Formats: sequence, C-alpha cells, structure tokens
Amino acid sequence: MANPKILILGGGYGGLMTAVKLQKTMNYNEADVTLVNKHDYHYFTTWLHEPAAGTLDPDKCRVEINSLLDSSKVKFLKGTVASINKDKQTVTLESGDELSYDYLVIGLGSEPETFGIQGLKEHAFSIRSINSVREIREHIEYNFARYKNERSPELITFVIGGAGFTGIEFLGELTDRIPELCEEFDVNPSDVKIYNVEAAPTVLPGFDPELVQYAMDILSKKGVEFRIATPIKECTPDGVIIGEGEEIKSKTVVWTGGVRGNSVIEKSGFETMRGRVKVDEYLRAPGHDNVFIVGDSALVINAATDRPYPPTAQIAIQQGENLGQNLVELMRGGTPKPFVFHLKGTVASLGKGEAIGLVGNKKIFGGTAAFMKKVIDNRSLFMLGGLSLLTKKVKL
Ligand code: FAD
Ligand code: NAD
Repeated sequence: MANPKILILGGGYGGLMTAVKLQKTMNYNEADVTLVNKHDYHYFTTWLHEPAAGTLDPDKCRVEINSLLDSSKVKFLKGTVASINKDKQTVTLESGDELSYDYLVIGLGSEPETFGIQGLKEHAFSIRSINSVREIREHIEYNFARYKNERSPELITFVIGGAGFTGIEFLGELTDRIPELCEEFDVNPSDVKIYNVEAAPTVLPGFDPELVQYAMDILSKKGVEFRIATPIKECTPDGVIIGEGEEIKSKTVVWTGGVRGNSVIEKSGFETMRGRVKVDEYLRAPGHDNVFIVGDSALVINAATDRPYPPTAQIAIQQGENLGQNLVELMRGGTPKPFVFHLKGTVASLGKGEAIGLVGNKKIFGGTAAFMKKVIDNRSLFMLGGLSLLTKKVKL
C-alpha cells in the first residue's frame, strides 16, 4: 500500500511545528510529507516589529526552512498556495502545479483586517512579513533623508493605527530608533511626531489596567501621543482621517488594527469567521476529517470565556505539536489527543530593556519583563530548531 500523503501548507509557527513534531515522531517511510511555503525561509513573525523600525537586521529574523527539516522525512517545496479543493483532495499553487493529499494541514497564517476602511489597503503599511518590514524601515529612512531638504512635517510624522500588542511593540521599537535617525539625518527630535490612534477607550483593550498604564507612561515619555477612543475612518495618500473628521497629515501610516485568517481559505469555500475556521477539538475543519487547521487561520473557543483564543504564536506552536503527534497516531490507527491550550503568559516589549507581562496572575514590568520576553523568544527558537537554531539566532 502507498504511504499516506501529508501536505502542510505554510511554514510559520503552526505549519513548521507540525512538520518538526512529525519528523521527530514518525518512522522513515511511514508517510510522504511535504511542506509548502511561499518563501524558502521561515520568519519569526513575533520579532517583526524590530526590523520594521530598524532596530534589528531582517536577516536575523529568518532561517532557511530546509535547515530545520530532515529531508528524508519531510520534503520542502517553495510555492504559493492559490486554492484548496476539498472534494478532489488537491491544492493548486500559483504556478499552476497541483498537489494531492490524504491529510491536509493548513497553517497559512493571517492577513491584515482592514474592516473595509477606505484607503488602508492602498496607503498604509502593515507588519506581516520580511518583505513588508523591509519596506517600512526603508520608507522611514528615506523620509528622514527627504525632510532635510523639503521640511514638510508629514515626512517625519508617524501614525500607528491600533494599540493592540503589535502596535504597542512597534511603538516601543520606533521610539528607540527615532533618536538614532535624528542624529544621522540632523533632524531636531522635537520636530518628530508619533501618534498612536486607537478606536477602543483604552490602549491594549482587555489587558490588565495597571500594565496598560505602565506601557502608556513609558511610551509617552518616549514621545508617543495617544489618541484613544478615536477610530481611524479613512487613510489617504496624505495621512489619516480620525474620530469626527480630524486629519493627521503623515507619509507613514502603519496599520496594526488586527488580523483575519488567510483569504485562500475563505476563497476555497471553508466557512469562516473573520477568515478563521472554527475547528473541532482535533483541529479539524467541520465536515472534513482529513483537513486540519493550525495557527492564525484556526479559531478555537476558550470554554472559560466562550470567546475565541487570540491568534498567537504560542497557541500555533502548541497546535503544531499536538497535530504532529496526532497525525502519527492516525496513520498507526491509534487514538489522537484533543487539543488543549495552556496559556503560559503574555509579555509585550516596549523597546530596549522595557516590557510588560502577565505570567499566571503575576504582573511583571520593566527589565524583568524584558528579560522574560527574551526567554520566550529563545524558547520558541529551541522548539522549532533545537540547539542549533537557538545558537544561531539567540536573543541576548
Ligand atoms: P505565520 O507564522 O504568520 O506563518 C504563516 C506562513 O504561511 C508564512 O511562512 C507565510 O509566508 C506562509 N504563507 C502565507 N500565505 C501563503 C500562501 N498563499 N502560500 C504559501 N505560503 C503562504 N504571538 C505570540 O504568541 N507572542 C508574541 O510575542 C507575538 N508577537 C508578535 C509580534 C508581531 C509584530 C506580530 C505581527 C505578531 C506577533 N504575535 C505574537 C502573533 C504571532 O506572530 C502569530 O499569531 C503567529 O505568527 C501565527 O502563526 P501561523 O503559523 O498561523 O502564521
Ligand atoms: P489586535 O486585534 O490585538 O489589536 C488591534 C487594535 O486595533 C485593537 O486595539 C482595536 O481596537 C484597534 N482598532 C481596530 N480598528 C481600529 C480603527 N479603525 N482605528 C483605530 N484602532 C482600531 O491586533 P494585533 O495587535 O495586530 O495582534 C494580533 C494578534 O497577535 C493578537 O492575538 C495579539 O495578541 C497577537 N500578538 C501578541 C503579541 C505578544 O504576545 N507580545 C504581540 C503582537 C501580537
């Protein structure tokens, strides 16, 4: 009998962790496993706010996928997924190639959620891949260079739309980078304006109020002006329209207003909520026992709150581990284990040496939280690539 074909789409935290767990658990020649990803590298999405601001080299945030795979167990294929046909059990790539599967794992991550706000797709940047953050960094540097000659304030006015964790972490890095840029381009630091525009009545809605206040105090001291309870209504080539129609002129709008599941899934006929598929306890798509979804494209309900768990790398990695093991069980006729999420804590960086976090019920601030953030970053390196990846990319 032919080996079962396992096709993994996406080499992010969810897809890659599934592949890594599978290759650790399965025997040689037990299955034909292929991982498909748009790029031949995996990037650490959780670090992207740093290269976006220019405080870390983008190369430090990625690793060749092949270096993490045992090619005798998992093959890597560089390709962009265009669509999934659940009935024919095939996946079509943008190149036109068609791949078939017995088991499918979808780990295609997320896309920016723009809520239909006019102009955001066209005029705002977002922090989503190595290429997108290179663009942000270069755009910021270019506008600093232009400011010296043109003196237009919008060249050095920055609008960050959304004060979730991505927005707040990016602000932490941006405010670290601005003084360096001011020095490099002879710009008076007081000419630079950084606005954080948030629709909800608070920054980091739903997070611990004391930690939120700490974050706002730190970032305000570093030059951020918060505009809370003020939604972005429109984005134009000249800036943003907020609240009741006020305009902030800016050549750099970075949209961090939330994410939705990868559109390939919706377009392939899966039922979704904000692009995410509500999976069952074995991470299966409803009605398809051989289709599994991990990471940002999966929606898992937290029974304690009856609300979806937020899409994080933490849950994606745990899902990948559970699924890698379960696929081996399924192939061997064993019993798969339901997925249960164990929240280990949440830590958000506020720039160099500063962070906030909640680990269990314990609140952590400042240097302790910043240290914990590095521990978390290093731990996920170890989970995905063992000591060799940790040694190459360790955060000190
Ligand atoms: P991803 O890691 O985004 O991977 C998706 C993969 O699919 C990518 O490799 C992509 O190239 C590939 N892909 C996409 N479309 C296609 C296609 N059509 N064809 C082929 N390949 C495709 N979470 C935390 O838990 N802790 C944090 O500290 C944290 N910090 C964050 C900081 C930032 C700046 C951001 C943006 C997010 C952060 N998150 C954090 C959230 C976390 O990064 C995501 O939840 C996580 O990356 C989701 O993993 P994933 O595997 O679903 O998707
Ligand atoms: P998010 O959904 O968590 O936050 C988006 C923010 O944008 C919200 O506060 C929302 O009120 C605001 N917003 C929405 N529409 C707006 C508008 N029109 N105008 C102004 N503000 C608007 O999204 P995110 O911050 O990108 O995070 C995505 C996921 O990644 C989350 O699950 C988050 O927990 C996770 N993440 C975690 C970390 C970490 O653990 N350190 C870091 C980054 C992201």
